[in-house]
Amino acid sequence: MTPACHAGDHEFESRTNRHFFGSIAQSVEQRTENPCVTGSNPVGATSYEKYNQMIVFLFDLIYNNPHRGDFMHNINEEYRIVSEEMDKVNNQLYVLKKDQKVQKYIELERRNKELRYKQLVLYRQTKYEEYKNCHHIYVTSQIKNDNLKGRQSRGYTCIKCGLKRPVLYSDKETLTYNEQIMYDYLKNNFETNEFDIYTDYVCNKDLARAIYCKIKEHNPDIDDSLVKKYFEIALDNIRNIKVNYERMKSRAKRLHLSSDFDRWNGV
Ligand SMILES: [Zn+2]
Repeated sequence: MTPACHAGDHEFESRTNRHFFGSIAQSVEQRTENPCVTGSNPVGATSYEKYNQMIVFLFDLIYNNPHRGDFMHNINEEYRIVSEEMDKVNNQLYVLKKDQKVQKYIELERRNKELRYKQLVLYRQTKYEEYKNCHHIYVTSQIKNDNLKGRQSRGYTCIKCGLKRPVLYSDKETLTYNEQIMYDYLKNNFETNEFDIYTDYVCNKDLARAIYCKIKEHNPDIDDSLVKKYFEIALDNIRNIKVNYERMKSRAKRLHLSSDFDRWNGV
């Protein structure tokens, strides 16, 4: 036969799916009217009972607090103050919204958002077209050592359009807006174009792009095979002809790189 106190357990458990506060109230009720719930298990309370004991403890703490009256009063007072201020703010907003200049401002803000959105869409399309139509000339702009597999993986950047293929292996959330466009583009267009050129060069992506821009500046109609040749000559010169710090700074300036640029030899 089930002891009366255990029957009580049962009944209590069957009610636990009710509302959270209902269960708190029941815990209190159970504790005061049927103390054998906890007393019936002298070895140790089950985790469920421990949970109920904790709820009862928190309930006591909040609702039997001797300062509860003050607490409730303070909350009510704060609520009243917030409500009053909200009414004032809403009234002012209502009046302002009727003002023609404010209406104009709201309208312009809305239009500005629309235009900004369109601009971003068009910018994205422009970049997609640029990447799609570029016969890429790649340099290695990233080298990662995989110690487990004992090999290196290389990441390529195009010196012409700046497309960085390693972005595809990055967490998209950490990328800049431009890199996210590259990411989306590469997701759908990863096949290598037959016209793409891979140089053997390992080069910092900013330096590579800077050299390319200089080449194009002086030879606007140059073809890709010549670009590759000029690029390699320029990079060899930069790396082999040693110059002092000042010359290095002015070299960086000529290439529109930051004056403290120091990635001349690596990535
Ligand atoms: Zn390209």
